Amino acid sequence: MGTAVVTGSASGIGAAVRARLERDGDRVIGVDLRSADVEADLSKPEGRARALEGVLAASGGALDRVVLCAGVGSHVADLALVPSVNYFGTFALLDGLLDALAKQPDSAAVVIASNSAQIGGFDEHPYVKAMLAGDEELSRALIEKENGFLAYAGSKHAVARGVRRRADAFGKRRVRLNAVAPGPTETPMVEATRAHPTFGPAMNAMPLPLGRFGEPHEIASAVAFLLGTQASMVHGIVLYADGGIDAVLRPDRF
Ligand code: NAD
Repeated sequence: MGTAVVTGSASGIGAAVRARLERDGDRVIGVDLRSADVEADLSKPEGRARALEGVLAASGGALDRVVLCAGVGSHVADLALVPSVNYFGTFALLDGLLDALAKQPDSAAVVIASNSAQIGGFDEHPYVKAMLAGDEELSRALIEKENGFLAYAGSKHAVARGVRRRADAFGKRRVRLNAVAPGPTETPMVEATRAHPTFGPAMNAMPLPLGRFGEPHEIASAVAFLLGTQASMVHGIVLYADGGIDAVLRPDRF
């Protein structure tokens, strides 16, 4: 088939996406802190440069698919990590790989957002605006003393808007770009959130229309759909793969 890049490939959703794409015949270049083809820390500019260099060397500069899964949750001790990994790490890789994607026909990218992105009403929050303005230092400074929910959900809100804002530029290069917004999904990140004294109970209080959390392979299926030619007219969307939580919380918004 083709050549794909998956960040966060060592665990959870990224590992499931890697397995799915390999099953479908792709050669996958995994990027993660460790246990990956390209080991790099996406929270730092040097790590992002190292990841891009490693991926471009391993792929020969042409890519069919890119999936950005690497992320940290609301439970991390250092909240400044959240915008750096979830927003700036994601878009440094995505934008840095656009030329490589544009070399292949039918190429596509998917970014993992979250259904939490719309829960907090963060549209006008200065933290979100700082990320969208590309100001990493300001976003880190604004979030350091805040709470993990704002750090995480705000970063995913900015991620979803960052994807939609790129629809024109990526479309002009004939690269489709979409986001998937999972709800709670059984991964090590959710395990860590479950154990948190504040965020564990909040997560467990969410309505679950389908009666359960998602499994990583179910998110990988949504990603595979968006990457494939069956989604050839789907561009710039946020696809909720959350078992209906967003529909229950915001039934009159879509
Ligand atoms: P996970 O913790 O199992 O996997 C995250 C991966 O990202 C890990 O392999 C980790 O090493 C990697 N990563 C973290 N920081 C990194 C860095 N600085 N540089 C490089 N790699 C780094 O979590 P997951 O649940 O599989 O999460 C995958 C994505 O899905 C994340 O973006 C997360 O925000 C999102 N998401 C998860 C859920 C959920 O309930 N699990 C819900 C919505 C969205």
